[in-house]
Amino acid sequence: MLYIVPTPIGNLQDITLRALEVLKAADVVLCEDTRRTQILLSHFAISKPTVRYNEHDERSVSRCVQLLQSGQTAALVSDCGTPCISDPGWKLVREAVKAGIQVSSLPGPSAAACALAGAGLTGGAFVFLGFLPRKAGKAAKQLSAARDLHVPLIVYESPYRVVKMLELISKTLGEDTPVVVARELSKVYEEWLRGNVREVAQELASRSKVQGEFVIIIDCFAAQEPEEEDEPDVHY
Ligand code: SAM
Repeated sequence: MLYIVPTPIGNLQDITLRALEVLKAADVVLCEDTRRTQILLSHFAISKPTVRYNEHDERSVSRCVQLLQSGQTAALVSDCGTPCISDPGWKLVREAVKAGIQVSSLPGPSAAACALAGAGLTGGAFVFLGFLPRKAGKAAKQLSAARDLHVPLIVYESPYRVVKMLELISKTLGEDTPVVVARELSKVYEEWLRGNVREVAQELASRSKVQGEFVIIIDCFAAQEPEEEDEPDVHY
């Protein structure tokens, strides 16, 4: 049995009761970084063997599948948030499903959902883009394509590149595009920057040091309100 177990994105109190139960009951915890996971487990007084799971190494994936096939119950965690969401895990899930192993995915913390909820944009559709490609041309292409869906776009970014990413968004989608930037969610220095992308980029660029973890929400709906079209009312 494979359990996908989300872990806190900053505040350790955000772990769920069920996540703790599953971690305690598992035979083994599969993780990105054994040291980081041991810190989490020790905090909750859980003593459990950990095995490093490296998605880029096929042997590591098949070793973990073999472990599951041998009848062990494994809890898959990543360094923070939900495994498989801009984090390793999806290949193991795919291979486990192929091998007929039962998979259960626990609900829990994820920076994308947390930022979108606090953005106050829409309760409907959104597009999660995760980390955009490093090449500006490719990133701009993805942004332009996603903009045409007229729903909020969610982008993950590191503190080292967040200003550059905001500048790219400004260049690609227009400097008046409204954004919400969520920094250090659930942590002591949690901060929300709201405004158009030019203003928010300038605010961050004016700081002596840009620190923390960032989620950028782009409000494509407000920026590009689609025009009413006289289409026939076809239901599907
Ligand atoms: N699997 C995680 C999840 O479910 O959100 C995402 C892991 S991804 C490697 C790390 C990125 O998530 C960071 O670069 C940042 O964009 C975002 N992130 C993680 N923790 C965050 C936090 N506390 N505040 C804001 N963004 C965060």
